[in-house]
Amino acid sequence: MPQPPSYADFLFPGGAAKALVLSMDDGPVQDRRLVGLLGRYGIRGTFHLNSGRLGRPDHIDPEEVASLYAGHEVSTHSVSHPYLDSLSRTEIAAEVGDDRAALSRLLGRDVRGHAYPFGARNATVIGVLRALGIAYGRTADQTRDFRLPADPLAWDPSCHHSAAAGLVEAFFARPDDTLALFFIYGHSWELDAGEPTNSWAYMEDLLRRLGGRDDLWYTTAIEVADYLDAIHAVRPAPTGDGLYNPS
Ligand SMILES: [Zn+2]
Repeated sequence: MPQPPSYADFLFPGGAAKALVLSMDDGPVQDRRLVGLLGRYGIRGTFHLNSGRLGRPDHIDPEEVASLYAGHEVSTHSVSHPYLDSLSRTEIAAEVGDDRAALSRLLGRDVRGHAYPFGARNATVIGVLRALGIAYGRTADQTRDFRLPADPLAWDPSCHHSAAAGLVEAFFARPDDTLALFFIYGHSWELDAGEPTNSWAYMEDLLRRLGGRDDLWYTTAIEVADYLDAIHAVRPAPTGDGLYNPS
């Protein structure tokens, strides 16, 4: 009998077995500095924005969303950053759906991802996001490894940016026998703390270590989610010889 495909049967685009996603929340003014650093090291970001906070003195302006984040992903983080698990279905749909609409308007293209404010979600929240057609929801629960998500709407990252330096060598040392994702989340505003693992110098060193490799797919959360969808659609060929994607 043909076996269903596993991640060991695939590589990421470009032939890499490893992928890197940097997922940063809130759209603070410090994103301007972070985007500059990402450009220097060839790393792409996934930026989760609260449309209701854009234009505040400590947040970026709505008019700069499209230009600042060009080449990166922009994704929802709700309009006003509430605990979504404390809201009704209607309120959840408005917080996420209205954020999606506002960000999509600013970008001129559809925004399909999400990061849960405070990492807070429950089955109701996840159900509403699924019904809205949101492709993934990133939590703030750290796996400390490089697994791919069982459910992209409950997508646990590898770790917070302050813990990422400690995982770099383990990531690079990982054998390329199956797909692996280093999924880092955090906030650029935290880097102003100036602490040993939470400073601009720390972040630049992390990006320098992660950048410039030809065995890594430098990508975004939505690109990974879409790629995993395509993998899941692949079936063993009816002849028992190889794989194909019937869609
Ligand atoms: Zn947030």
